[in-house]
Amino acid sequence: MNASRVRKRIVGAALILCFELPAFARVKPSSGFDMFSAQEEVQAGQQAAAEANKQLPLLPDSDPVVQYVQQLGARLASHAPGEKWPYQFHVVNQKEINAFALPGGPIYVNLGTIQAADNESELAGVMAHEISHVVQRHGTRAATKQMAAQVPLAILGGIMGRGALSQMAQLGISFGVGSYFLKNSRSAESEADLLGTDIMYDAGYDPRAMAQFFTKVQQEGGASRGPQFLSDHPDPGNRAQAVSKEVGTLPHKQYQASGPDFARVKQLVAGMKPLTAQQIAAQQKAAAGTSGSGPSGGVVAPSVNFKKLEHSDYTISYPENWQVYGDKDSAVTIAPQNGVSQDAISYGVMINVYQPEENNAPLDRATHELLNSLRQSNPDLRQVGNDENMRVNGVAAKSTELIGTSPIQDSSGHAVRERDWLVTMRRGDGSLLYLVFISPEPDFSSLRPAFEQMVRSMRMR
Ligand code: ZN
Repeated sequence: MNASRVRKRIVGAALILCFELPAFARVKPSSGFDMFSAQEEVQAGQQAAAEANKQLPLLPDSDPVVQYVQQLGARLASHAPGEKWPYQFHVVNQKEINAFALPGGPIYVNLGTIQAADNESELAGVMAHEISHVVQRHGTRAATKQMAAQVPLAILGGIMGRGALSQMAQLGISFGVGSYFLKNSRSAESEADLLGTDIMYDAGYDPRAMAQFFTKVQQEGGASRGPQFLSDHPDPGNRAQAVSKEVGTLPHKQYQASGPDFARVKQLVAGMKPLTAQQIAAQQKAAAGTSGSGPSGGVVAPSVNFKKLEHSDYTISYPENWQVYGDKDSAVTIAPQNGVSQDAISYGVMINVYQPEENNAPLDRATHELLNSLRQSNPDLRQVGNDENMRVNGVAAKSTELIGTSPIQDSSGHAVRERDWLVTMRRGDGSLLYLVFISPEPDFSSLRPAFEQMVRSMRMR
């Protein structure tokens, strides 16, 4: 389910305080307010890196593959514009193709990525792209938007004075492995591609290799080895064209070919057997001494304990291990941490108000108008069965079941069917309050009891 409606409200809040970051070399400066000072940025990244280094199977720094990646990374980073972040490069002993960057410099490249790269330029492309996420501070800028949405603007200034880190901790925001803020938005991806192109060019690599590698993962590797990579770094739509266009603005240049170092490293990694994501998850689970159950191995399974959200328009109870995105006056998304990215919601519920064209329109008509409007951002959304009348704590309501396409993919890279349950209620002022419960189809029935319990707890003010 597309979250643009929710996002509009969140972005709106952040824009009021918007100023521009310093201009980068040739890439247009990215606009966006960042609550984190450079020092806090580094600190937040170091904290998350300490966690990541404990959770992930890293190759030791003495490994020749790691040493090669560190040298390549340092060479690329020396061409990064702006603030000189303390970059660190790690190699994760993992089979699936992925790479991610934490705020302020720590960068992780999976061994599978090196195995999949056909030449040094492709690997350099992935790394230049990650370096660009650091330079453009995509993680903390996304966190800033989230924080701005969670605290009233009036006290935001005061909070900034107290430091972004303590506020981040208070709001339960983290940059840990698998967290919401490591999944980049499409606009962040475009920015990282553009700056990555310039870094590649300056370091002497053909920037088009970066886009080629992404395309390759999508086309062949994506099936079993790249879904996480593609979900952390979603295709902004015209990756290859955008990179070619940027290259076209730069003077012609002789690019360097893969050196003997890359050939040597390729030979080394060909004989290595990295762990699969599943094996790593099993290790982490064993280490944590917990055994998850339910959808996605317990990652999104709702707690049986519920807590109450006091919104200015209503109150609702929700599983205490799920998180509320939004504030008491805005549209709200309640979801497990892994159920949302900056662009889309795969698990959870969106609650919002809809103003039908004709105020006080009958519930039926207003609901269908709302459906049409939801379809504009999710064109393949369609109704299954008939809508039904119901009552929510005495208020007349309508229940509509829908199917669409989930933003998540199955293990072979195919889109998963999504099931949505829409509940609409008329408000005293003639507008519509609605809840959209979202889940990939295979998990819907196991989440349904929690969804129903949430509906039963709903009380309009
Ligand atoms: Zn990216």
